Amino acid sequence: MLLQTTIAGSLPKPAWLAEPKKLWAPWLLEGELLDEGKRDAMRLALADQESAGIDIVTDGEQTRRHFVTTFIENLEGVDFRNKRTVRIRNRYDADVPVVVGKVARARPVYVEDIRFLRSQTKRRIKSTLPGPMTMVDTLYDNHYRSREKLAREFAAILNQEARELERAGADVIQFDEPAFNVYMDEVAAWGIEALEAAAAGLKCKTAVHICYGYGIKANIDWKKTLGSEWRQYESTFPLLARSMIDQVSLECANSRVPLELLALLEGKDVLVGAIDVANETVERPEQVAATIRATMKFVPAEKLYPCTNCGMVPLPREIALGKLRALASGAALVRREIGV
Ligand code: ZN
Repeated sequence: MLLQTTIAGSLPKPAWLAEPKKLWAPWLLEGELLDEGKRDAMRLALADQESAGIDIVTDGEQTRRHFVTTFIENLEGVDFRNKRTVRIRNRYDADVPVVVGKVARARPVYVEDIRFLRSQTKRRIKSTLPGPMTMVDTLYDNHYRSREKLAREFAAILNQEARELERAGADVIQFDEPAFNVYMDEVAAWGIEALEAAAAGLKCKTAVHICYGYGIKANIDWKKTLGSEWRQYESTFPLLARSMIDQVSLECANSRVPLELLALLEGKDVLVGAIDVANETVERPEQVAATIRATMKFVPAEKLYPCTNCGMVPLPREIALGKLRALASGAALVRREIGV
């Protein structure tokens, strides 16, 4: 079937698990109750995707407080007690952990989650991980003192995790690299190589997600500085087209990305963001269909996967569910038009 739908990764959590509409919201349960609560939340996230008609599903990232720091919390060589304030993606300040010694994966991080998700569904499943450059950008490095060196260390760690996720049943492994829209010179110098190292040896589909961020104020303010056309993808896509990564997830709904840039990804699967995650208005299926149709001028239907612009974790749950349904319905509209 063509135009199979998927999501960038995250969905809102139930209000009994973490405070709604909040990034980095602390857990409201602890111990065994928290473990059970996370599994129940994964069941609900899966049920929402299945009932909406999403084809390639995720765990909704229900077991993570944050898409980068939850992974880093499971590493050795990082101090979480004495945090430092850094500027994330040149945009906003955050208190982040400090790299104080050689980094290593202390234990599998999301492998049990994916094993659980695999046991709950017959659909294809996607697992998401932070990308090496975005990890480097979300902490303070007091040990390697080289973004490139630290990224390569993280890539090796991510590769260990990714291989185990594949064995646990992941059909797609996606690395989230919003930093690829900010540090264009570093992407060319070492970012793509680090990404490929993270994905090395995987036989499942590999993906990279490159977006303009959640709909938080710092990101909205940043987007205002980017001008009438967002051309960040123009320098990254030719590099990704030559890489071993199979799929690229990007932002198209309500964005100022010139769609002709998608042609630079020739040969790759393109996960077209057809749902805006930065507002609380549920798209009409016809709007989603219009975004998909517009990108079909540059991406062949057999390479096109309708998706969300980014994660939906900061949205109210009923809005996110409405957006899932709109995504599936919009893709179905286009499928009927092209007769598949
Ligand atoms: Zn994103």
